[in-house]
Parts: sequence; C-alpha cells; structure tokens
Amino acid sequence: MNCEIIAVGTEILLGDILNTNAQYLSRELSALGVSVFHQCVVGDNEQRLIEAIKTSYNRSDMIILTGGLGPTEDDITKETVAKALSINLVYHKESYERIVEYFKNRYMSPTNEKQAYVLENSTVLQNNNGTAPGCLYEQNGKTVVILPGPPFEMQPMFEDYVKPFIMKKNGGIIKSKFIRVFGIGESNAEYLLKDIIQNQTNPTVAPYAKKTESTFRITAKANNENEADSLITDMSEKIYNILGDAVYGEDDDTLQSVLVKLLQENSLKISFAESCTAGLIASKIGEISGASDVFCESYITYSNEAKHRLVDVDERIIAEYGAVSSQTAIAMANGVRSASCSDIGISVTGISGPTGGSKEKPVGLTYIGVSYMDISRAYKFVFKGDRNKNRELAAYNALNIARLTILGKDVYNDLH
Ligand code: ATP
Repeated sequence: MNCEIIAVGTEILLGDILNTNAQYLSRELSALGVSVFHQCVVGDNEQRLIEAIKTSYNRSDMIILTGGLGPTEDDITKETVAKALSINLVYHKESYERIVEYFKNRYMSPTNEKQAYVLENSTVLQNNNGTAPGCLYEQNGKTVVILPGPPFEMQPMFEDYVKPFIMKKNGGIIKSKFIRVFGIGESNAEYLLKDIIQNQTNPTVAPYAKKTESTFRITAKANNENEADSLITDMSEKIYNILGDAVYGEDDDTLQSVLVKLLQENSLKISFAESCTAGLIASKIGEISGASDVFCESYITYSNEAKHRLVDVDERIIAEYGAVSSQTAIAMANGVRSASCSDIGISVTGISGPTGGSKEKPVGLTYIGVSYMDISRAYKFVFKGDRNKNRELAAYNALNIARLTILGKDVYNDLH
C-alpha cells in the first residue's frame, strides 16, 4: 500500500509552524510497511487544495490530510475533499453532542456546529482531545483520511483508528521496540548500525535522533505475537552486540530510571555535588519513583567557597588547578561521598557558557567526577551546545558514568 500526506494550512507555508504532522505520519506509516511517495503542503485555498486532492487521489492508495477542520471560514479541508471527490457532507449527531459537551459551561460559537459535518458513508473518528472529528472514507479501493491539525489531537486519532485500520488491511501484526543508546554520539551509532539499517526489510531498524541520545526503533511484521517477538529479539541481540554498553535501555527507560533500578538492585546509595548543573542531576533522579531508596542528598556547590565548605574540597586544589579541573571534580566526588555517607559520589564542574570560557578552558569544558569503592577519577568533556544543552549533556553524562561505573564498564576515555 502507498499513501501520501497533505498538510493543510497557510501557517505552514509561511514557515510559522513546522510540519511535524508529516514527519510523525511518515515515520508511523513506514513502520507499518506503507510507502510514502509524496508529501505536500497546501494553504487554505480551495482551488489549490482541490488540485492537490485530485492529484493524490489518482496516484495513491491512501491520502491523509491534516489540519483545516476548525470552525472558522478558512478551515476548508472537509468541504474541499467533499467537493473534489463529489461526496456529500452530512450532519453527525453524535459529534455535535460531543462538541456541545466539550463546551459545557463555556461559550460555544455557532460556527462550531460546522465541525459536526462529516463525509457521507465515512467512518467518523472521534476526537477525545478537541472538537473536530476526523473521517476515514473508502471508495473504489482508495482511502481518504482527514485528521485535525493540532498534533495532540491528530496523533491519538491516528493511533486509535488509522493504525488499526492499516494493520487490518495489511493482515498480520506489527510490533515495535525502542533501543536507547547514550554516550557514543548519534552519527557514530548510526554509522555502526548502517548495514543493519540499510539492509533490513523485516524487522526494520530506524534511527530516531533525540536531543541528547540516540534511539533506534525495531519494527517487525509477523503473523502473530510470538513470531514478532522472535524477530525483534534476534535484531535486538545484533544491535546489543554492535553497540555494547552504549545501549542503556529499551522502550520507556530513561538514564535516570535505569540508574535508580541499578542502585536498588545493588543496594547502593548515591549523592551528587553539582556546580554548573545546579541541581539538574538531582532533579532527574527525583523524577523516578523509588528514588528515596537510593538517593541520599545533593549539594549545589556553585561557588568555590561552597565546594570547600560543603564537600571539603581543599582550597589549594582550586587555587592550583581551578574550579573547572579534573582535580577539583575528583575532590568534589570524594567529598560528597564521605559527607553524605553514600556508596557513590558524583560531581560536575564545568563552563556552560556563553561567557566564562578562555583559550585553555573553553565554553563547554566539563569534568565529571566519580568516587566509588576504590575508584576515584574524572572524565573530561567539551560540549558544543548552548548553555542549557551543555548543562543537560553534563547531567546525562553524569548519570551514564554512574551507571557504567557500577557495572564496572567504561565507554569513555579515562583521564586517570
Ligand atoms: P482546530 O480545530 O484547533 O482549528 P484544525 O484541524 O483546523 O484545528 P489548523 O487550524 O489547521 O487545524 O491548525 C491548528 C494548529 O495545529 C496550528 O496552529 C498548529 O499549531 C497545529 N498544526 C496544524 N497543522 C500542523 C502540522 N502539519 N504540523 C504541526 N502542527 C500543525
């Protein structure tokens, strides 16, 4: 099956909003084994939209349109599909009642009534997150799907109605698993997996770049659940073999959730001394239920004086090597470990920027210290992002270093 996507909205053409709907739909469709050969964006203009609909309808098995289902004059998607394909629009009582319910105790404009009209003989797709229902219409072996523009309305509707519809048409089932990778760089991870990514048809492996890590989605098509699981397991093993300890988790795992679990399993307690991250690591650990089993305390040792007073960093170390140095990071990690009676102490000291850098110590220079059993060391990074990205990267690398240290592994260059 092939499908094309028409995003409707002048805002997209003007560059005011990014067409993330097309990105989401293309990814989802490709994971479902549906080929997307064309995507287009059309403004709120009836004539041009009619042309686009007719062209798409003639060459594709399926068209998905998003946007333009609102109550105002320039929301014309349903009306234009109806006109282009000679389909009637009919009043849908249930949708009207849902819209009235949505506006209960609030003013409902008379124009909202227009949203209760749907393509005749279509399956009406209920909108649980807004007012505009979607439509799924089949005619002469072709399918036309109309979805609302806001992603938080469009995505659940796709998941709940369109995905099952496609899966039923395809026969069999589709199952996915995410593999989460940190610490070896997104392009490096993709390079290492390039043969797998390029040569697989079932399961497929697709990279999903995230802000601070890489994620790969394995998607298997199979006749039943067991067959899909076995295809996914074989592929996961191949990826684990190639990427090794850089794989930190799967599906909904995060670095912080994986670390908390590891600390719980090993009955270990952790504490942090944070300078440039100013509590970010502690906050990430605090997101995880069960953190109280493993997290003792955290110090924000922003000033040199605080580094000395709270975690006992010798003032001479700071004077000799500077606050941003491996020596200070190590002293902070050792200091927080003993001050808090933890099993593992983690420290961060760095220059987040944009000011404060020098030739010897550029913006982004960050040391992460770790103190655990007889290990007492620091790792050096030079992050290339803006202030917030550098702080985020420092926090996630600190979590990852804690994870790898407990596992007795090392994927970073050791400084000491
Ligand atoms: P509403 O019922 O809220 O009016 P709608 O279905 O008419 O929704 P639009 O009016 O076209 O949708 O767009 C509403 C908002 O949805 C946009 O301002 C934008 O934030 C988001 N949106 C629309 N189309 C896209 C798209 N292709 N990609 C990402 N976001 C989009």
